[in-house]
Amino acid sequence: MTDHCCKIGQTIDKYSLQESVIGSDLNENLRARWVGESDFPETATRPLTDWFNQKILKKVYAEHDRKAIETQLESDYKALRSDDEVKRGAIIDDLADDGIDGEELLDDFAKRSTMYRHLTQCLDAEKNKTSSDSNWEEDKIEYARDTMQKNVSDVLRSLERKGELPNGTEAEIQTPIILSCPADECSTQTRFARAKNRGYICSEHSDVDDEIQTDSTEQDSEVPEAESDSQTTANPP
Ligand SMILES: [Zn+2]
Ligand SMILES: [Zn+2]
Repeated sequence: MTDHCCKIGQTIDKYSLQESVIGSDLNENLRARWVGESDFPETATRPLTDWFNQKILKKVYAEHDRKAIETQLESDYKALRSDDEVKRGAIIDDLADDGIDGEELLDDFAKRSTMYRHLTQCLDAEKNKTSSDSNWEEDKIEYARDTMQKNVSDVLRSLERKGELPNGTEAEIQTPIILSCPADECSTQTRFARAKNRGYICSEHSDVDDEIQTDSTEQDSEVPEAESDSQTTANPP
């Protein structure tokens, strides 16, 4: 187990995916797709992760003689990843009829941030940061959030074990990224996502032209409620 680079490497081994692509090995294929080499269009981390996970699904289907054409595979995958418990339950039951453990698959499916780490750290891949559709900024933010949440939940687990913070692992960890206005004595704070959407941190102190500034009538000084995509429970299932 320890000779795998990370969870992705372990999964590739577990499902024997290494030779699942024709003409090259899977890691090289992942790298080429991500950076946009060898005739592959550059792919963002999220669709690449879905592609990888569907390779797992395809392999398991083949092993269990579950027939699925590409579109069926895709819709099964979507149902498995669905937030809708009923939908998810239905596909898990259906898979069970073919002797496939859907819960295990869900555990083994790669997360986008794990894929990002595998690409950048295990495979040393680097995206061309000047290309417009590389989306690397978003990936990096998500990776940072994920790492922080993981570290905090490790700490919470330890504190809970020592009795210093009972129920600590049941807490919801929020990782908002808040930017403060660079101007001295200005207390304006804005969430990263909001600043990025608007193109400025503070309407009073930014270099954007007046036209854009007057566009914003919203209050900047208050940090709004946590965004749903930036939080998780300390103890993921
Ligand atoms: Zn790895
Ligand atoms: Zn300001």
